[in-house]
Amino acid sequence: MGNSENNRLNNFSRFDAETAARVIHEFGAPAYLYDEALILERCKDCLNIPNAYGLTVRYAMKANSNKTLLRIISDAGLHFDASSLNEVRRAHMAGIPYKKIMLTTQETYEGDEMKVLEALLLEGLQYNVCSLRQLELIGDFSCENYFTPGIRIHPGVGSGESATRNTGSDYSCFGIHLSDIDKAMEYAWGKWIKFEHVHVHIGSGADPEMWKNNIDIELGLIAKYFYEAKTVCFGGGLKEARMPGDEAADLSYLGKYAKEQITNFNKKFKRKLHMEIEPGTYIVANSGYVVSRVIDKKSTPRANFIITNGGMEMNSRPLYYGSVHPVYVVSGDGTQVRSSEFKDIHTDYSAVIAGKCCESGDCQTLDDKGHLAARTMSEPEMGDIVIIGGTGAYCSSMAPFNYNSHVQAPEVLLTEGGSLKLIRRRQTLEQIVENEI
Ligand SMILES: *Cc1c(COP(=O)(O)O)cnc(C)c1O
Repeated sequence: MGNSENNRLNNFSRFDAETAARVIHEFGAPAYLYDEALILERCKDCLNIPNAYGLTVRYAMKANSNKTLLRIISDAGLHFDASSLNEVRRAHMAGIPYKKIMLTTQETYEGDEMKVLEALLLEGLQYNVCSLRQLELIGDFSCENYFTPGIRIHPGVGSGESATRNTGSDYSCFGIHLSDIDKAMEYAWGKWIKFEHVHVHIGSGADPEMWKNNIDIELGLIAKYFYEAKTVCFGGGLKEARMPGDEAADLSYLGKYAKEQITNFNKKFKRKLHMEIEPGTYIVANSGYVVSRVIDKKSTPRANFIITNGGMEMNSRPLYYGSVHPVYVVSGDGTQVRSSEFKDIHTDYSAVIAGKCCESGDCQTLDDKGHLAARTMSEPEMGDIVIIGGTGAYCSSMAPFNYNSHVQAPEVLLTEGGSLKLIRRRQTLEQIVENEI
């Protein structure tokens, strides 16, 4: 690894221009690259959050479910939040015991799938009911097996980086809405179900003030309804700073506040609540990079366009949410950082970064209304490397990777020791069509 400071892309990751060139040389372009050291640092940050009576940090694995990353995060001491039965299975295939996994899902299970869920619950899987129907489907099992499901509440208010990621507002349908709590409690009493775990997740990339507000709301709900709650989960939504000038969630500030409120709750009610949080973005977002090659350049009267071979099929967040990601331009041989939004490199050139998909929204530089937004950068030459930062979360796990029959890109780990390790092979065309009949 070229450790010269000039070669670094930013000041938070060890990923540098020379390593980017090595990724392409060894594994081809485009590829995802993850910085293990940064993932470990973020895990530690979360585990060190101040707390009153204990803390469990659950990694929301839908952010990035690569087996190697799951293992790194598990070895660091985190537990897991799964969003589907398949995510539970996938975590278990990575070697994570069921008792470290909590399933919080929109899915409902009947028949054979319900049998699978019940068997896993008996092996220690934890389960948050997120609707009245889910509660009713698990009711008899809970009653007969003394199983205590958790309950996810929809608090009626929420926050998120964009409207579609605000999971607590009245426009979203995650959890049992406040207006249905009485119904849920009545059903639970009838089946002798105790709710020992109460959960709210207000949205991704949430405003820290809303996150604080959520702590108050949730403790209020526990005081009012959940006399048997032992654990309170504040969900994910801890904001990461992807761009220079963005402000990440201040974990110690939020933790101090949570600790204070949980301590006060104990003074009032003589109940020591264990705290949980479920970061996804915060753990992996800034560790990830999309590493791609410049394959073409065009201009219209409106803008310069740089075409790279890694676009929306690797990172759809600009298209879905108007998310803004940092762009780095690196010389093809990795000897030079031509531009980085974290460095003061003077240039008058600006361009839109487009991908290779036949889709006008295939652009890495959109504004929050979905319009093309040219970014200042140095003008790349053909064969230069364009890197999109902040792409460790909800990129590989969420992008429409087979569109235009593009194959899913490989994933590479920059290990703590500084070596490059392939952690997912490039998909083949045969794999894309193998299930077709
Ligand atoms: C997605 C999700 C999270 C993680 O959200 P981030 O914004 O990525 O931290 C946490 N909890 C639940 C239940 C989720 O669905």
